Amino acid sequence: MAELAACKAEYFPQLLTFGAEGLQQGCRLVEDREFGKSSLLRAAGTLVDFLVEYRRHTNIGTAVAANQIGIEQSLVAIAPPGDSFEAEAVLVACNLRLADTRGSHISAESCMSSKTEMVAVVRAHEIIAPYQTLDGQPAAFEEIGRAADRIQHEFAHTLGITCLQEAIPGSLRLLALDGDPLTQMTQVAEEYDRLYTPQLITPS
Ligand SMILES: [Zn+2]
Repeated sequence: MAELAACKAEYFPQLLTFGAEGLQQGCRLVEDREFGKSSLLRAAGTLVDFLVEYRRHTNIGTAVAANQIGIEQSLVAIAPPGDSFEAEAVLVACNLRLADTRGSHISAESCMSSKTEMVAVVRAHEIIAPYQTLDGQPAAFEEIGRAADRIQHEFAHTLGITCLQEAIPGSLRLLALDGDPLTQMTQVAEEYDRLYTPQLITPS
């Protein structure tokens, strides 16, 4: 963790952390006239490059929202599943929103913008989340479980909301600076599993 904190400070000074004003400002919607234009593509490229580099340096991080690194438009970069990825494989979603949800469950979450914080959040179990591609075409994520959590976490960022603000009261845990972050995160997630009964509510 100490290494992670030092790594963030050295390589990613543009990354805003919890409490920063910019994180609490929602992203502005991409306007019709911006789609396909070089300024939007440049912003998207900056976000993708950030995610690729962050993953390369830290071995964690699968998605990032634009306002986490000071980009104003509503953009979210999502990496494919797996250990490593190239910039070409990262999807950028514009104007992401939640259209439909089913059920709910407890999600154990941390954030690139956290320092050592980890929290439990109630998330929808299944989601449909429409977005627009960089050239303005309509598209949508249809996700379930962890994959749905990730989309909801990033969507909240675009509204200026962090998982810390969405946390179940009393669920905040601080990871130790001298431990391996992934091991600790797994342990905290197991603790949440014992503490909170997942409520999977599927409407008939
Ligand atoms: Zn986050």
